[in-house]
Amino acid sequence: MKIHDLIGVGFGPSNLALAIALQENQAQAAPIDALFLEKQPHFAWHGDMMLDGTHMQISFLKDLATLRNPASPYTFINYLHQKQRLSDFINLKTFYPSRLEFNDYLAWAAGHFDHQCHYGEEVIAVLPEIRGSEVSMLRVVSRDAHHRTHERLTRNLVMALGGTPNIPDCLAHLREEPRVFHSSSFRSAFARLPPPRRVAVIGAGQSATEIFLELQGHPHLSVDLVTRARTIKPSDDSPFVNEIFNPDYTDYVYNTPNDSRAALLEEFMQTNYAAPDMALIERLYDVLYQQKVRGQQRHRFLRRHDTVEAWSDDAGVHLALKNLESGEVNTETYDAVILGTGYQRQQHHALLGELQAYLPGMRVDRHYRLDSTPNFRPAIFLQGSCEDSHGLSDTLLSITAVRTDEIRMALAHTLHQGHAAPSALQASGDVQRHGALQA
Ligand SMILES: Cc1cc2nc3c(=O)[nH]c(=O)nc-3n(C[C@H](O)[C@H](O)[C@H](O)COP(=O)(O)OP(=O)(O)OC[C@H]3O[C@@H](n4cnc5c(N)ncnc54)[C@H](O)[C@@H]3O)c2cc1C
Repeated sequence: MKIHDLIGVGFGPSNLALAIALQENQAQAAPIDALFLEKQPHFAWHGDMMLDGTHMQISFLKDLATLRNPASPYTFINYLHQKQRLSDFINLKTFYPSRLEFNDYLAWAAGHFDHQCHYGEEVIAVLPEIRGSEVSMLRVVSRDAHHRTHERLTRNLVMALGGTPNIPDCLAHLREEPRVFHSSSFRSAFARLPPPRRVAVIGAGQSATEIFLELQGHPHLSVDLVTRARTIKPSDDSPFVNEIFNPDYTDYVYNTPNDSRAALLEEFMQTNYAAPDMALIERLYDVLYQQKVRGQQRHRFLRRHDTVEAWSDDAGVHLALKNLESGEVNTETYDAVILGTGYQRQQHHALLGELQAYLPGMRVDRHYRLDSTPNFRPAIFLQGSCEDSHGLSDTLLSITAVRTDEIRMALAHTLHQGHAAPSALQASGDVQRHGALQA
């Protein structure tokens, strides 16, 4: 069986940016053989949240390549040039393209790597390949749409799995109920329903607000936006605060002692969590205000309401909503309940479960490589699930271009060393000093 230098699990922006960084830094003598496995049938960036009028929350300059190499052919600007829209885009006078356009950019870039990505394969396990007393490589097991399993060997692994839906406990038993679904499957799940009349959107972050605004215009539809929060506060993207998303801020966060790092992340939570853009908040407020002008209340903003129980029957999905001010509980019935309740980033724990004994503590070093025991030779890198150690930019696009270069250099170093054990990598002094690892 062929042995790959690297298998990447997931082919969203993070691993796509890595593919680009590898291609642009390929050593002619010893090119790195990298293969990516993606469970979606084709490239798509949050396809079920591709709503009309939605825009990027980050400058297009934080694309797949610019911060690493502004001269890369994979920049957003070169994409515009190739599509003959550069002048027209300039006339928009914006740094924030529509999500539709950014998805098109990402898909255009991904199209250059079709030969390196197997779509329609979900990785279901990663197993140790033991030779003598050590794990010499990894066996990656995936399943395709026809339920066939595939196995591949690799010397190194990078996991960029994105998030999985965060489902509140009291709704977890309704996972199979088609009328209850997470924002990540909004478009397709909503399209499968008979036209609903009453909808609840739970949450008050960017996705919940976008979905509320998408639905409120449908005639004959009433939408309740249900949130525990007292109010909706905007995300803070003012310039000094935005510095926390600069690539060099990662060093600062990583080097902050563990006990104060959590407080540091908490201080800036509002930049990314439960905080929609100001423009969306203003549109939401206007919708509710215009109802007052018309003297009708089709849509409601149920703030300080907690969903304490949920069940479903032929009449609909019933939510017991507790008013957190009065303590009163009322039951409301809906034809659809949409959860804008965010994401978890724990999937790698399950996929790497068979390797647990070799990965004590599941901690990553500065280069996103999981610490491992000395008898474990493969390097495993994580992208997008290192917020606790590397900061709030980790789940976003902000540092993708730079992070993938750091991983590329650490990988090149590992391959060059003949898969040095992590202790050797640590000893080389690279771990806190990215500049020392020029490959
Ligand atoms: C609606 C929405 C809008 C957003 N907008 C912005 C924005 O404007 N700016 C910003 O900075 N961030 C934004 N984000 C944050 C988002 O995390 C990043 O934009 C970006 O998608 C991160 O890229 P990624 O590759 O790490 O993860 P993802 O884009 O989530 O990609 C992960 C990929 O891995 C695949 N996968 C998962 N598990 C497996 C498996 N077991 N086997 C094979 N494949 C697997 C998934 O199918 C997916 O394609 C947004 C997020 C959402 C949900």
